[in-house]
Amino acid sequence: MKIIVLKFGGTSVGSTDRIKKVANIIISFIKKKYKVIVTSSAMSGVTNDLVKKSKSISNEFIPEEYDVLVSSGEQMSCSLIAGRLNHLGYKSRSWMGWQIPILTEGRHSSSRIEKIYKKNIIKYLESGGIPIVAGFQGINSANRITTIGRGGTDASAIMLSRFFNAIKCIIYTDVDGVYTTDPNTITKAKKIKVISYEEMLEMASLGAKVMQPHSIQDARLNRIDIDVRSSFKKSLGTLITKRKNIVSNKIIRGVSFTKNDAKVTLIGVKDKPGIAAAIFEPLYKNSINVDMVVQNISSNGRETDLTFTIKSENLSKTEKLLKKNKKISFRKIIVDNKVSKVSIIGVGMITTPGVTYRMFNALAKKNINIIVISTSEIKISVLVNRKNINKAISALHKEFKLEN
Ligand code: ASP
Ligand code: MG
Repeated sequence: MKIIVLKFGGTSVGSTDRIKKVANIIISFIKKKYKVIVTSSAMSGVTNDLVKKSKSISNEFIPEEYDVLVSSGEQMSCSLIAGRLNHLGYKSRSWMGWQIPILTEGRHSSSRIEKIYKKNIIKYLESGGIPIVAGFQGINSANRITTIGRGGTDASAIMLSRFFNAIKCIIYTDVDGVYTTDPNTITKAKKIKVISYEEMLEMASLGAKVMQPHSIQDARLNRIDIDVRSSFKKSLGTLITKRKNIVSNKIIRGVSFTKNDAKVTLIGVKDKPGIAAAIFEPLYKNSINVDMVVQNISSNGRETDLTFTIKSENLSKTEKLLKKNKKISFRKIIVDNKVSKVSIIGVGMITTPGVTYRMFNALAKKNINIIVISTSEIKISVLVNRKNINKAISALHKEFKLEN
């Protein structure tokens, strides 16, 4: 069976008119003799609205009911798609996570798909039907409805592709692919034709909003090729695949950035084992994600300074947690809520010397001060003053010839 998985995001099913277009896209694959499994998000805005409703009922809406509530948007969009296909003379039906079932594990609202039962769907495909599977949702071992994190339909699509051995997974969204940087910020941004899982994962984690990071990791582990396309216009999208499949002489694939960072510096913390752990423990317990961390080498062997970044929205809570933390002491705390992180990403930097120098030099030429630096094998990130962010992105985009 030539199975293909098509995923439609919220804006692609954002109105009944859009849903009619989606049905036509699905039919075009049926005509090419594919067996099509569709998974859809809720119509755009619906999930946000449900989240808002839960908050107006209670600030601590219980997780079990929260998942029942926020997963309901997908029921609506999937039935509308199936209904349209039926109207056009095609056999189709919707499937909620629990009906398949799609088994998940982990906490409510951030569960992960563990297993998808295949029998019913395969039978349906063989009978010529088009299953429309609700994205974002599943069911756990306690028989409760679960959700797999905001934007989770991407992960639903990847896992459907994995369990049904799809030959292809196409993610239909409102952008026509992955760009070298945000095209709304830098008009010279170019569409990327092929990108490796690793690069895409960095781009997504660092701010490119095309796909949910988890889902890219799942695709990487299962070696599933992903095609990102627009459901609004007919054009080639971006292929996300393994490094081996990519021939390209680009050292850097893209520049990404986040604007809502904050920086915290603790001056004069004790330089002894266990202190860094003691600083970060309460942040972890409060689900505050720490991003960049730098610690200076202690000059006197007793004290050191430690700097880290978090999302701006967590700054005041973080400050409070640090000040009331009895396990640590420091002389002074300095915070800055107006910083941004800009990163260059590319597997090419593993084998090409001088990338770090070129990045720093390009920023220096624009008089942009670097506050914090962090690197991984395929990424270099720097923290800069937020007012410099657009200048920094353009300088780097140009330096690494991404506009050609
Ligand atoms: N509807 C869910 C959300 O808005 C899942 C998704 O869009 O993929 O987060
Ligand atoms: Mg969405």
